[in-house]
Amino acid sequence: MFIKDLFKQKRLVYSFEIFPPKLTSPIDTVYKTIEELAILNPDYISVTYGAGGSVNNNRTCELSSLVKNKYGIEALAHLTCINSDEEKITKIVDSLNKNNVKNILALRGDVNGEQNLEDSYKYAYQLIEYLKERGNVCLGAACYPEGHIQSDNIDKDIMHLKNKVDAGADFLISQLFFDNSLYYNFLDKAYKKGINVPIQAGIMPVTNKKQIERIASLSGAYLPEKFIKIMDKYEYNPEALRDAGIAYATEQIVDLVSSGVNGIHLYTMNNPYIANKITTSISSLINHINKEAI
Ligand code: FAD
Repeated sequence: MFIKDLFKQKRLVYSFEIFPPKLTSPIDTVYKTIEELAILNPDYISVTYGAGGSVNNNRTCELSSLVKNKYGIEALAHLTCINSDEEKITKIVDSLNKNNVKNILALRGDVNGEQNLEDSYKYAYQLIEYLKERGNVCLGAACYPEGHIQSDNIDKDIMHLKNKVDAGADFLISQLFFDNSLYYNFLDKAYKKGINVPIQAGIMPVTNKKQIERIASLSGAYLPEKFIKIMDKYEYNPEALRDAGIAYATEQIVDLVSSGVNGIHLYTMNNPYIANKITTSISSLINHINKEAI
């Protein structure tokens, strides 16, 4: 099924993200994770794609296929276009197609150092245009509630986001954020600019201090005082920090779903325990919302 059709059937789409293990680890280290996540019955599971070369991208295809064909859960394969070309992209998409994976999150990928101006693809919208032209695919794209880290300002970034939707993105998934009011402001701006596809909120339960520092430097996400206070308090108590991270993410989700967002995409960090805790606490809310007429 195309994920865009899920949004037509449900008021709230609830999904998970996983990543393939690094090349130094056997692929089956993630099988148990998928099995445990599948039990939680998400609407779909997305599998990230390593643009940096530290992971084997065949694994994205293999794991997406496993999600779809073994567990019967819709799969969304991430695909980046930086440092790639039409031939490589075509090969990957053909392989996904052969495995009945018809949903792709079309991304640019992170630029390390100077961007090569000779690249066939410089931006995600070019990948979206190409994939749309090939047809028989549902396309997601990334959006940034606080603006993409390389963008001069949020308005310019939203203008570029509109380009991706005009090129054929069927739905959007947001970068993580820790302050819901920033997300609501972003939604307002996006709708005013004519972005009319479903937008899913990306939520990352933060469960260790290292993760927070990495996230803040990579995404530039604003860390509210309330969040910093919690993280500082339990910094040296892993169990308490994990529970506080789960509670914070759950509180964010309760507010978001009660405010009528189209969906929640949970960055599980391949941790079924955390996904289980959060999903169990919000499942009655999701059921309630999905009983409401569309
Ligand atoms: P784009 O939409 O191309 O935007 C990149 C930048 O270029 C932005 O600053 C934008 O404003 C600007 N821009 C766009 N068009 C133009 C234009 N015409 N002229 C000038 N500037 C322009 N990375 C991975 O490597 N693997 C993954 O699996 C992965 N999954 C992700 C999932 C989600 C939900 C999100 C939010 C991000 C993910 N990323 C992943 C990270 C992503 O690859 C980076 O954030 C990357 O830097 C931008 O990708 P994009 O597709 O948003 O790029």
